[in-house]
Amino acid sequence: MAPVFDGHNDLLLRLWLEQQQTPVESVFSGLDGGHLDYPRMRQAGFAGGLFAVFVPPARYVAQQRGISLAAAQEAHCPLRICQQQIDLFYRMAAASQGKMAVCHSARDIAQCLQSGTIALVLHLEGADALDGTLTGLETFIRRGVRSIGPFWNLPNAFGEGVNGAFPGSPDTGPGLTEAGKALVRACNQQRIMIDLSHMNERAFWDTAALSNAPLVATHSNAHALCPQPRNLTDAQLCAIAASDGLVGVNFGTAFLRADGQRNGKTALTKIVRHVEYLVAKLGEDRVAFGSDFDGISLPDEMGDVTGLPRLMAALAAAGIDKSLSEKLAWRNWLRVLKMTWGD
Ligand code: ZN
Repeated sequence: MAPVFDGHNDLLLRLWLEQQQTPVESVFSGLDGGHLDYPRMRQAGFAGGLFAVFVPPARYVAQQRGISLAAAQEAHCPLRICQQQIDLFYRMAAASQGKMAVCHSARDIAQCLQSGTIALVLHLEGADALDGTLTGLETFIRRGVRSIGPFWNLPNAFGEGVNGAFPGSPDTGPGLTEAGKALVRACNQQRIMIDLSHMNERAFWDTAALSNAPLVATHSNAHALCPQPRNLTDAQLCAIAASDGLVGVNFGTAFLRADGQRNGKTALTKIVRHVEYLVAKLGEDRVAFGSDFDGISLPDEMGDVTGLPRLMAALAAAGIDKSLSEKLAWRNWLRVLKMTWGD
């Protein structure tokens, strides 16, 4: 089976939320539950991907850590939380003793694929820590961030994400602010990838008009098959194709099913359907995976990362040949990252 390079996971968020119970070293001995750890990555042929740094709402932190909302709000400093998650990223790489490597370029990723090292790329899911200015951007880039989604679902100084109910259109609010436009220009200049996955429709079109890089949605699906506002309309897919960009298919059941339900009883063929639809709209070179492992509810048939070989078998059973299967698994990600980063 081809190694799978993946466009999005939330392992760092999990490690950050559970840092009392789950030291970073336990990624290598094996974690309880969740979707990712080193032994399971190895077993699955997971070759690495984009690891998101994400500042969750204080309410979510309170729930997950079993602390009061007031305590979570008190500690809610986006910059500090990002720094802590980036620290975890580097501690995980160091604890891997060479089994994982931080990647800054497409060449780094290609080397990892060749040597069987897990490739770690740092992604910022929501640039709240920049506080609406670009002064901190350089620091994040120096710390290894290679991809930025300006905002998550909620509004920040750069714009606002898709924040609508199912079923619904992605047209849920105003587009990029002036600061958001400046961030897109700065990312272009610094050759940092801009992730459109959480953008509402107006922000998406603002970015499409402004950006000179391929348009990339790291973890979204086809709105025509699942009318979840985070999924992409045919017009958006058309713009992504025209820019020679890419869509990473999200494995979350709420992004796959026509009824938008979070329901484990979702067949892997639903993922196959989204892949087929996206390939028909975007072409073979512009579709890949963006699992959202540790951030969504998976089909029971997938279970966790070790379901990847079952997904690849389902794709093969649907007639997807070896060449396309390799493109989906890693070649397309490498192609678009090379174009974006200029490596
Ligand atoms: Zn996301």
